[in-house]
Amino acid sequence: MNTIKWSRLALAYSKCVLLKKRIPLIVGWALTYRCNSNCLYCSLSKKGVKELTTDEVFKITDTLKKKGALRISLTGGEPLIREDIGRIIEHMRSLGSVEIKLNTNGKLVKKKIDDLAGVNIINISLDGPEKIHDALRGAGSFNGALEGAEAAKRNDAEVLFTAVITDINAPYLEHVLKIAAHFDAKVFFQPATSNVLGDKTVNKNAPREDALDKAISQLLSLKKAGVDGIANSRAGLLYLKPGEGKEIRCASGHISLRIEPNGDVIYCSREDFPFKALNIVRDGFDKAFSNLGDISCRRCLCGARVELNLAYNHNLSAITNQFRG
Ligand code: SF4
Ligand code: SF4
Repeated sequence: MNTIKWSRLALAYSKCVLLKKRIPLIVGWALTYRCNSNCLYCSLSKKGVKELTTDEVFKITDTLKKKGALRISLTGGEPLIREDIGRIIEHMRSLGSVEIKLNTNGKLVKKKIDDLAGVNIINISLDGPEKIHDALRGAGSFNGALEGAEAAKRNDAEVLFTAVITDINAPYLEHVLKIAAHFDAKVFFQPATSNVLGDKTVNKNAPREDALDKAISQLLSLKKAGVDGIANSRAGLLYLKPGEGKEIRCASGHISLRIEPNGDVIYCSREDFPFKALNIVRDGFDKAFSNLGDISCRRCLCGARVELNLAYNHNLSAITNQFRG
């Protein structure tokens, strides 16, 4: 997020604090759980959730804009798999001041590049060099991700990468930074969750504590040495380091939320706490958003979420890191 956008967020956030208001500034929206990949640590595509119709997506987008949304972050599954993705993005773009971020595995970016006009940030998953990335995400995934990044660059979108740290790719994080540098892009690093995404089975590839500790220490050293390209702030990396993370208040339900493919409103993608969601179509936005109360969860693993939560808790390292772009 650049300086002007962060200034807007800071102003809007001050309004939330001063007026004691809850405003959905940052919206994570899983448009679908269908996916064209089959990553080792994910079973989201097996969920078979009923999806919102195009018209429902349009109406919700209008409501979000009215309620003060500054950024809509489209995610999945693979959001580009939706046949109406071009129309959805066009509608979001027509709202002007709402920033659009797209989280994707990259494979469909080249094919659907005409649908992506107006997307501000294209965030592509990249876990390591070809052999490692494909071992985690399936044959051909690495080339798909890089082709996607090249197409996004040609289209003048800002490219960002996210690397999920597992035991398999932990020794290759510097390699990810080198690939990202080729695209003049930054990388968010985040540990894989202990359960498989989308179900409660154990993720056998989640990093062991010592491997994660070593990986985060390496990223902290690289950052200290001035190596460019690590999107996490120093505070964000320390938060992810085993044994170091300090408790911070979750911004979800205050300035952020997540919408599920069927319109359920939840805190984030984590599924390991009991919570009865309300649905934005059935119950309306106000009811569904205010159903998110203060949550006691303090252990984020998502790199970008950690930064948002740190900024929400006035952490200077996270705030200045964002201002540096
Ligand atoms: S992690 Fe993302 S790209 Fe991989 S299978 Fe799950 S939704 Fe698809
Ligand atoms: S993992 Fe916990 S702290 Fe992070 S966004 Fe979700 S609920 Fe909030």
